[in-house]
Amino acid sequence: MKVDWRVKMTELEFMINFHKDNKRQGPGSTEDTLKALNFMNLDQEKTYKVADIGCGTGAQTLTLAENINGEITAIDLFPQVLEKLNFNAKAHGLEDKINTRNESMEDLSFEKESFDIIWSEGAIYIMGFEAGIKAWKQFLKPEGYIAISEITWLTKDRPKAIEDYWNNEYTEMATASNKIKILEENGFMPIGFFVLPESSWTDYYYIPMEKRFDEFLKKHNHSEIVKKMIDQTKEEIKMYNKYKDFLSYGFYIAKKSSSNKNI
Ligand code: SAH
Repeated sequence: MKVDWRVKMTELEFMINFHKDNKRQGPGSTEDTLKALNFMNLDQEKTYKVADIGCGTGAQTLTLAENINGEITAIDLFPQVLEKLNFNAKAHGLEDKINTRNESMEDLSFEKESFDIIWSEGAIYIMGFEAGIKAWKQFLKPEGYIAISEITWLTKDRPKAIEDYWNNEYTEMATASNKIKILEENGFMPIGFFVLPESSWTDYYYIPMEKRFDEFLKKHNHSEIVKKMIDQTKEEIKMYNKYKDFLSYGFYIAKKSSSNKNI
């Protein structure tokens, strides 16, 4: 079959165009970011090097820059979102604390042990939780921290409809104990976990996004591709509202073991 890359690119461009004008590109909130950060008990006298992987337009990057003494490297595959992040950083007077890097999370070019903290909200699923943990660990200093938000089943059993929907979207859908096990098996000590509240999905993500559907459709003359994209998002929102008791994002905070500790 011949793949029409032009059509594929257009679809991707619409996606980026739509999502870059949202404040967030995934569920989350300032409170969630601060709550995760609090588990680390950072020393205000020290400076920290932080990587924010899959930063999007940087809702959480700005919170990190405002609350951590140090420097944040914000990484994303798409220059369009980084441009927006740089604009927002300037608007908040945080441009000296934030550097953007346009590269793929799957092929990061940093020196080993470059960072004290690796942060990633709603993005590790792109390469998969386990592959992400394994690939990023090398860039963290011994005893450095990792904070990751990841879609998570909240119950052992759930209705087949939601099970099938998410298993089709993401092969690593699992409960928190599975995710924590992966962290432990890869030399991380879990120091915190919490579940994102419903408002982090609705008030801060879905509701502001829903308000933009009509305007975006109009702007693109109700193009079939845009309609399809919006219909898929509507379906995702419908599924969330119906089955929110069974899934959410979990925030996983862990500390990398010291490499010179002998057992
Ligand atoms: N952390 C942000 C964005 C989450 S959405 C928030 O919570 O709002 C996931 C982000 O990952 C998007 O900005 C997307 O552009 C980015 N992304 C997708 N593939 C990527 C890759 N291979 N490497 C780095 N970033 C990627």
